[in-house]
Amino acid sequence: MANDDTLEFTVEKTTSPIDPAKREQFLEDPGFGNLFTEHMAMVHYTDEKGWHNARIQKREPIMMDPASSVLHYAQEIFEGMKAYRLADGDTALFRPEQNAQRFQRSAKRMAMPELPEVTFLESVEKLVDIDRDWFPSVEGGSLYLRPFMFASEVFLGVRPSREYLYMVIASPAGAYFKSGAPAITIWVSEDYSRAAPGGTGAAKCGGNYAASLVAQAEAIERSCDQVVFLDAAEGRWVEELGGMNLFFVMDDGRLITPPVTGTILPGITRESIIILAKEEGLDVVEEPYSIDQWRDDAASGRLLETFACGTAAVVTSVGTVKSSTGEFKIASGGPGQLTEKLRQKLVDIQRGVVEDTHGWVKRLF
Ligand SMILES: *Cc1c(COP(=O)(O)O)cnc(C)c1O
Repeated sequence: MANDDTLEFTVEKTTSPIDPAKREQFLEDPGFGNLFTEHMAMVHYTDEKGWHNARIQKREPIMMDPASSVLHYAQEIFEGMKAYRLADGDTALFRPEQNAQRFQRSAKRMAMPELPEVTFLESVEKLVDIDRDWFPSVEGGSLYLRPFMFASEVFLGVRPSREYLYMVIASPAGAYFKSGAPAITIWVSEDYSRAAPGGTGAAKCGGNYAASLVAQAEAIERSCDQVVFLDAAEGRWVEELGGMNLFFVMDDGRLITPPVTGTILPGITRESIIILAKEEGLDVVEEPYSIDQWRDDAASGRLLETFACGTAAVVTSVGTVKSSTGEFKIASGGPGQLTEKLRQKLVDIQRGVVEDTHGWVKRLF
């Protein structure tokens, strides 16, 4: 194994930078996930050398052998995080060490080598630094960062790869939901599940998303924004959306969210919301919540709000829930008051509008 201390990044700027006027034009309406910055981070791994060859370089296609094992057995993990422009003009990350640690946990589950936390943080910080002109000017804009790692050994046998490539790319981002919708409509997937006990639900791996796409496509077909998955064993307990965790606001001061038991992705937004909600005096309960209870509580009015949360979309109200047996609205089907309050609280911390009493904001420059 290479000594972590020797893992220094070489930084090489692109020699053909984009015309600044053109960049500004792109940044006026970045959308989500379509536009990319000019650089990327790369670190190689082999069993013999450990982590090595760390660099920041111009963004360009990578060569892959058709027998690269990720293309066959999907040994791949990723992270999603954002760099923000703060109210005072500084640039910051939100709880980046949490992403680094989750990346290590995902790697472990997928029989991949763990990237040192310092290397993860350095790769992200150096990329944000070199692409600092790529922050979108739009309201709510940020620089979305996508660290990922995949099996790069040229080999078709079924065993963990002996070579990996870790990379980070950056994408200027506007709002996640196209309509900027105040409350989303979600589709209950009854035919497909996302993660089973003992499976990979808690790992942020591409395979989980691949398995969710047919359900997501079904949701879009039914004019829904997102799909909600139930537990695989009983098809009864509400787990999460394809890429967001769920919360239920009750009329007795409880805030219910499904527990992290291995089938749900432990979101950093989820954990932050739990902390902020407790500070608001809410009784946060991490316990299973069934689809039948959800429907009943919505009908009786005991359920006031439901919201989904994650880095990409931050916090979003769920207004309508549709399934093969019908649909129900949560309250009037619009955005919720407490949802909006918690969202604002979180965004104000992320944007440096209020004091960061939790030590969540990591200032870069
Ligand atoms: C990434 C992700 C989330 C949200 O995690 P955050 O750390 O809050 O961005 C929730 N569910 C799934 C399935 C995810 O992949």
